[in-house]
Amino acid sequence: MGVYAVTGSASGMGKASAERLLAAGHTVIGVDIRDADVVADLSTPQGRSDAIRETLALAGGALDGAVLAAGLGPTPGKEALIAQVNVRGVIDLLVGWRPALAASGNSKVVVFGSNSTTTTPGVPNSAVKAFLAGDMDKGVARATRIAKSGPPFTYAASKIAVTRWVRRTAVAPEWAGSGIRLNVLAPGAISTPLLDAQLDSPLKRAVESFPVPLGGFGDAAQIGQWVEFMLSPAADFMAGSVVVVDGGTEAYFRPDDW
Ligand code: NAD
Repeated sequence: MGVYAVTGSASGMGKASAERLLAAGHTVIGVDIRDADVVADLSTPQGRSDAIRETLALAGGALDGAVLAAGLGPTPGKEALIAQVNVRGVIDLLVGWRPALAASGNSKVVVFGSNSTTTTPGVPNSAVKAFLAGDMDKGVARATRIAKSGPPFTYAASKIAVTRWVRRTAVAPEWAGSGIRLNVLAPGAISTPLLDAQLDSPLKRAVESFPVPLGGFGDAAQIGQWVEFMLSPAADFMAGSVVVVDGGTEAYFRPDDW
């Protein structure tokens, strides 16, 4: 049985992933701003370094894997937080945990991306580049130039940035060569408190009118099953992949983009 760190373990898909791993007999170290083994605010450098340190202490220096699910949706007025949690809350933690992930010799990481990465037209690449360069203020400024598009552009840019980071990093010798498998799970609209908040906001019409060929919204518990699968031996030969689970939305918009 393995030891797994799960961020965003207090709610939604992070919680569903943690429950699935616990039910299979694994040890889970939950990291969240509330109701977790490690309570830390991933929007601040101090919170992130506390999260890294406390998780490593609880894990005894070796991790069989990690799930990076903590994140914010495209909420107006929260652009700076979205950038910090969705981007730095993933990259900083994984860099900090890398030695522990390498220590197990065959570890697996699932980073939560989003199908918004390929279904949001017009996301400024300069925002993504700034996020990847660590200049979060510049990234937010670039993503919010058109005020109305600020939240969706910042959100999509944050998820594009972590997806690119995973794909670049997954194949680097310090990661792949240390037996660390980094992959992305990109959900579409999944029924969680994050989606509920959007349905209770001015974004309601946009969310409900987004095409989902299979209909309805996805189920968080099923996403937990995908996470468990991507952490299992079935994923031994998988690195830098993006697994889209979105009811067909991505294929609907880009059937020939392959
Ligand atoms: P959720 O809101 O149910 O859970 C997110 C968790 O992140 C919460 O427990 C919250 O406390 C934690 N969190 C937020 N800010 C934090 C901070 N500063 N420090 C520490 N923890 C913090 O959301 P969810 O829908 O389960 O989303 C999980 C992931 O999936 C997120 O990265 C989200 O962007 C992504 N995603 C969600 C959807 C969807 O439709 N629900 C679609 C695509 C991608």
